[in-house]
Amino acid sequence: MRRRIAAGNWKMNMGLEASVELARKVKDFTGIHAHSVDIVVCPTFLSLARTAGELEGSGIAVGAQDCYHESQGAFTGEVNPELIRDAGGSYCIVGHSERRTLMHETDKEVNLKVKSLIGGCIVPIICVGETLAERQALDTMNVVRGQVMRAYAGIEPEAAARTVIAYEPVWAIGTGLNATAQDAQAVCRAIRDTVRYIYDDTTADSVRILYGGSVKADNISDLMSEKDIDGALVGGASLKAAEFGKIIQAIAGMIQ
Ligand code: PEP
Repeated sequence: MRRRIAAGNWKMNMGLEASVELARKVKDFTGIHAHSVDIVVCPTFLSLARTAGELEGSGIAVGAQDCYHESQGAFTGEVNPELIRDAGGSYCIVGHSERRTLMHETDKEVNLKVKSLIGGCIVPIICVGETLAERQALDTMNVVRGQVMRAYAGIEPEAAARTVIAYEPVWAIGTGLNATAQDAQAVCRAIRDTVRYIYDDTTADSVRILYGGSVKADNISDLMSEKDIDGALVGGASLKAAEFGKIIQAIAGMIQ
């Protein structure tokens, strides 16, 4: 059985004190669920170490929102997996649609980042998803399958099995629109079948697939009742401890 994940992407929000304060509230409200689901919060790089310090011993993990694939050297402004680990991080989001769109991040770069995260013992959360135009052109499955295939190029099955994929339809991120549970399940199923096609049954059945895109306390339960959805990557709603707490509770509550 796959262990479920509730991950919060704090994006470019909150300074040091606000991050530590939110982490403390998440711990107080929901730390009790950390034994049954993986809870992850992803603050900015600047707040990562202090947030990790606040959460030490709670079972709640901290992640980064991006990384650079090179190991060290003259890469001004960049942060590699080793530095993330050193600061207390154990997960890292890669290929978020905001980075793909605003920073023109490519599938090739996503693949390099995934490889370097695996090498640095950080769990990648690999974001994939179609734009509205691609959805309207009935191209969702092709787009998502292609992103998955390219993200895993050259990665061994044992390493791939420990990664996490977040299916985040671009049109649903921060818009208040979200895919129906049935639509999300169909794409998550296609993602799992793509992993099966690249590797084998064991790898496909081990990879954890999250849904992301305007997840809230009132829509998470439907999503979690679907077979191939193993949790959620939550943006806006993860900035409110009470709301994120309800989401975590719903994810934990669906475990049989
Ligand atoms: C995200 O940024 O990954 C996300 C899903 O955002 P939101 O929940 O705000 O749509």
